This record gives sequence, structure tokens and C-alpha cells, in this order.
Amino acid sequence: MFNPPVTDPDVSAVAVGYGKKHPFPAPVLKEVLLNGKGSAKETWHIELSLEGSGMGYEVGDALAVQPVNAPDVVESLLRAAGLGGSESVDVRNVGVKPLGEALREDFDITGLTRNVLGKLAAATGSEALSAMLADEAKESLKAYVDGRQIVDAVRDFAPDGLAADALAGLFRKLPPRLYSIASSPLAHPGEVHLTVGAVRYRSHGVERKGVCSTFLADQVGAGDRVPVFVQPNKNFRLPEDPSVPIILVGPGTGIAPFRAFIEHRVATGATGKSWLFFGDQHYLHDFLYQLEWQDHLKRGTLARLDVAFSRDQPEKLYVQHRMLEHARELHAWLEEGAHFYVCGDASRMAADVHDALVTILEQQGGMTRDAAEARLDEMKHAKRYQRDVY
Ligand SMILES: Cc1cc2nc3c(=O)[nH]c(=O)nc-3n(C[C@H](O)[C@H](O)[C@H](O)COP(=O)(O)OP(=O)(O)OC[C@H]3O[C@@H](n4cnc5c(N)ncnc54)[C@H](O)[C@@H]3O)c2cc1C
Repeated sequence: MFNPPVTDPDVSAVAVGYGKKHPFPAPVLKEVLLNGKGSAKETWHIELSLEGSGMGYEVGDALAVQPVNAPDVVESLLRAAGLGGSESVDVRNVGVKPLGEALREDFDITGLTRNVLGKLAAATGSEALSAMLADEAKESLKAYVDGRQIVDAVRDFAPDGLAADALAGLFRKLPPRLYSIASSPLAHPGEVHLTVGAVRYRSHGVERKGVCSTFLADQVGAGDRVPVFVQPNKNFRLPEDPSVPIILVGPGTGIAPFRAFIEHRVATGATGKSWLFFGDQHYLHDFLYQLEWQDHLKRGTLARLDVAFSRDQPEKLYVQHRMLEHARELHAWLEEGAHFYVCGDASRMAADVHDALVTILEQQGGMTRDAAEARLDEMKHAKRYQRDVY
């Protein structure tokens, strides 16, 4: 009987059991900026190796990434609290370590919540903060939290600084972030690809950045390792029957799982036709994976591509407008049994796309709005209408 050597990475992977409790330190193979010069967006294509992790994934799954906080963010929090960083703190389930290290690795040091403010009020005895946390002050609390981070609250309500334990006691554990997987394991064995939009904005006069997206964008590069685990998503799957048509609506980073879907259909020789709706700000800078889509169109592995670049003309144009423009054909695809998928922005896009679908069923299918909604509910139950929105 063949016994693999104990150093075989797959064996150690099984022993360690990489997953949620023990994220796999995945080597970064490549990071490519997908937007062109002059774009207002910053979207990264990131390739990671899962070689030796024992972890697998299916298209439609997400990858959880465990970030660390940026050194400058840690530094400004230490400064606001009047601390140096070498003070010892006890981190639950981790042990005693220097505060600076704990702020970098273990705690959510940015997300400002009512809970954090409650702990800060208890630590500081600030009357102004206690007043803002009163039941009748909900509106002013909401207005204060909007666009602010923990560092602002420490500056505002702990002007004399905080003890190391009091500061460490404010935080929850730094949570991982999810990213829709942008690759098929059949097209890229041993790898997983992501499409990550870097979150950067200015609020209350300060430049801010999202923890995980800028951890990936700024803090790691090829050769570094990123702790990850797979988060399966059984509710976002290609049709079991490979001959079934699919309609994919994925503006911005919502494109990620559809790159995986199309790669998978190519790798498995699926015969069902595919129609992609993509959108972003500008054709020139923001057409994510443009060459790949054009190649799929040429090879016939993508039957249709409709794009909406919102800022290339005076009036805003979005994917739902393209859907409505092609209502007759889209309805015909649905009648043929097409599965309909949406990925990306949950705050507006998903609702706008849903509304467009209702309108298309109303107008092309001659039904009432209620009947159209009921038809979409049926499609959801039959797993013909699936969403991966965030
Ligand atoms: C299932 C799923 C799949 C996902 N797939 C992808 C994907 O493929 N690609 C991708 O890029 N993301 C994806 N996301 C989102 C991703 O998980 C993160 O939420 C995103 O990267 C931001 O995380 P962050 O740590 O960088 O930002 P955080 O540190 O979490 O900061 C984000 C917060 O910053 C604040 N904020 C952001 N912008 C502003 C602003 N302009 N003004 C004021 N406040 C603001 C908001 O409070 C916001 O909640 C997905 C999420 C889910 C749940």
C-alpha cells in the first residue's frame, strides 16, 4: 500500500482541517488592476493558490478573506487614545499580546456601532455620549455614526485618552469578508480568483478605506499569503441541465461569479446559451474582463452581451434599462426556461433589476403586476431566479 509522506501538503491539510476555524494561508499568485487610467473605480482581479489546502469550491460559492487592519489606521487609533502600542492586552481566545498587534490582527477597529459607543460611554463616563445613546436621541445617534469610524468617537468622547484595556474592550473580533468566486476550478485547477472593488471614500474631512478590500489592494501582493476559507452558496448554482439557457446580470464587481459560470460552461461543454448584462461607469476604463467577454462572444460561448455604461452619456444608463430595451427577447428566453441570475449591489441595483423583470413579464407576458410578481416567486422556488447581492 502506498503511504504518502507526512509532509504531503494534502495530508497536513486534512490534519489541520483548513476551513472557517483554520483559514488557509493562500499564496497570492497575481493582482491585476482591471480599471484603466482615469477611472474613478479601483477593481482588482486577484488570483490565489489553493494548492495543498485540501479545500475545493463550486462555481457560485464565495471565498471568505480574513484581513488585518492597515498600519496607519492602527497608528491613528493609538494616537487618539494616547497609547504607544506596546501595552499588553488579553485577547479572548488568543491570549496576551501587545496592544498594537491586537489592533492590527484581532479587532474590528473601524466599524462604529451603538454597542461600541455604549462601551465607550461606560469607559469614559462621557455625559454627552450617554445623552446621545438615550432612546429619544436615536436620530442624533444615527447622524453621528454616519460616515464616522471608531477613531472619531475616541477623539470626540475620550479627549484625555483611554487605558489599553479600556480601548481593547471596545472592539468585537475582526470578521472575515466574503467575495464571490470569479473562477471555475475546472478552468483554473488549484486556484481561486476574485474581483474586488477597493472601498475608499472621504467623510467628515478624512480619507477612509474599507478594511478587507484595501488589505487586498494595498497590503498584499504576489508571493504574500492571505488567510481564506470557502463559503458555499447552494442558492447560487448553474442549472443542473447544461442545455438550459442562462441570463446573467452582473454590473461592477457583480460580474465575478458570471466569469466563473461561463468558464465552467466552457470547461464542461455545456450547450445552453448564455446572455450577459454588464454595467459600470465608463466603457473606456471600466469594462471589466472586456477581452475575455469578446473572446467568448467570438467563440460562441457567450450568445449575447449587453452593456450599460452609466456615465458615458448625459442621462444615467443602467443594466435594467438594457433589459427593458430587449424586453421581447428576454421574455422569449424566460419562456424557453432560462434561469435568471443577479449579482452585485443590493442597495438599489437588485431592486431595479427586479422591477424591470416585473415590467417585462407584465408587458410581454400580458399579466398584471401581481401575477408577474407571483411568476417571479415561482421562479425563485424553482431556483430559476437566483440572487447573490450584497
Ligand atoms: C456574498 C457576498 C459576496 C460579495 N462579493 C464581493 C465581490 O465579489 N467583490 C467585492 O468587491 N465585494 C464583494 N462583497 C462585499 C465584501 O464582502 C465587502 O463588504 C467589501 O469588500 C467591503 O469590505 P471592506 O472590509 O473593504 O470595507 P469595510 O471596512 O467593511 O467598510 C465598508 C463600510 O464603509 C462604509 N462606507 C463605504 N463607503 C462609504 C461612503 N462612500 N461613505 C460613507 N461610508 C462608507 C459603510 O459603512 C460600509 O459598510 C461581497 C459580499 C457578500 C456578502
